[in-house]
Amino acid sequence: MKTAIRGQILSFQGNPFTEPMEDCLYVEEDGLLVMENGYISEVGPAVDLLGTLASDTPIEVYQDALICPGFIDCHVHYPQTEIIGAYGAQLIDWLNKYTFVAEQKFSDKAHASQAAEIFLKETLRAGTTTASVFCTVDPTSVDAFFEKSEKLNMRNIAGKVLMDRNAPDGLLDSPQTGYDQTKDLIAKWHGRGRSLYSVTPRFAPTSSPEQMEMTGAVWQEHPGTYLQSHISENLGEIAWVADLYPDRNSYADVYRHYNQLGPRAIYGHGVHFSDDDFRLFSETGTALAHCPTSNLFLGSGLFSIETAMMGPNKVRTGLATDLGGGTNFSQLVSMNEAYKIAQLAGYALSAYHAFYLATRGAANALYLDDKIGSLAKGYEADIAVLDLKATPIIDYRLDYTQSLEETLFVLMMMGDDRANRATYVAGERVYFNDREAGKESFAEF
Ligand SMILES: [Zn+2]
Repeated sequence: MKTAIRGQILSFQGNPFTEPMEDCLYVEEDGLLVMENGYISEVGPAVDLLGTLASDTPIEVYQDALICPGFIDCHVHYPQTEIIGAYGAQLIDWLNKYTFVAEQKFSDKAHASQAAEIFLKETLRAGTTTASVFCTVDPTSVDAFFEKSEKLNMRNIAGKVLMDRNAPDGLLDSPQTGYDQTKDLIAKWHGRGRSLYSVTPRFAPTSSPEQMEMTGAVWQEHPGTYLQSHISENLGEIAWVADLYPDRNSYADVYRHYNQLGPRAIYGHGVHFSDDDFRLFSETGTALAHCPTSNLFLGSGLFSIETAMMGPNKVRTGLATDLGGGTNFSQLVSMNEAYKIAQLAGYALSAYHAFYLATRGAANALYLDDKIGSLAKGYEADIAVLDLKATPIIDYRLDYTQSLEETLFVLMMMGDDRANRATYVAGERVYFNDREAGKESFAEF
């Protein structure tokens, strides 16, 4: 059955970092978006499309709103939901003190399911419809996540962490068990409904060379699957990698050596990337996830989005929260902090460019830009409806903007999950914040 939503529509159909803005931006002031069987079947001016619909087609009208593609979070850890905002440490201390303690509880299915549910609710409340998700070393944590995600029919990517050294015993697998469990989980989840599997070595320091070897092998044996990990986040981490892998030229060279670079491989951070690192990622089609709130929170450093998107060696890059190192589920907040990080390097990231990085650009980083990240005919109907009256101060401030670009910039600087009114997944409204009634509702899952 067809359904439709009507309101102001904003989407990208190209990359504004490399193409003229007018070729990339799609705006419909009074637009209609028609959905059928989980896909967008039409999008265009309401005045043209209304007459083509049967008179009983349900149409939801959103006033004072902006209908956008659902946000895409390129790098996030659902088991760390319970440790967001944990004080006082940089990466390695923070992993040992908080993360590795929290993750040991995820062999308990009930605990994992509850965390997955809370995580997904926060995601939908923030208008995020796809994420690339780290689970824990225990396959139970992956089943718990995908079971919940599948009930919502979300296009999520996730995988079991591979880790056989430098962590507590309870969180270690072995090269063989890691390989076998990954293979089993790929068979079970990859391509089932909208779920996609990602081979997930935590990062080079927590895998032995043997495990790195087998991780590259299992990924190469399953074309179409993803690989996700971390790279060049923190200076102490980089020195540690140099120590653990003395024969390799660089951190990126470790992953290259073990066949872990290429299309559908996405790495968190790259904060301290050299020109050679950018070149290697560019040449291999490997992607980066820029995680601004996390990089600031953990004091990791300042990533150059300008170099990644416009330098001589362009790398597919999407925006990410990296919870629980990151501090907010909302990609509006990621955009806000990405703007400030870019400002410190003398580059002013525009609202349009930032929105691209959280929608179509993130889909491009995940090689999914033919399916999600844009509002266009044939795309999967994953949508966020942003609220232009979300808070009293946003409402007041927007009275004094002159253009859509200014409005967007205010939303990205002042908005968070309160600025999301509704979230659609595969054409179904799974979250609704009825501001007037002061009530919010989620789909059952
Ligand atoms: Zn991370």
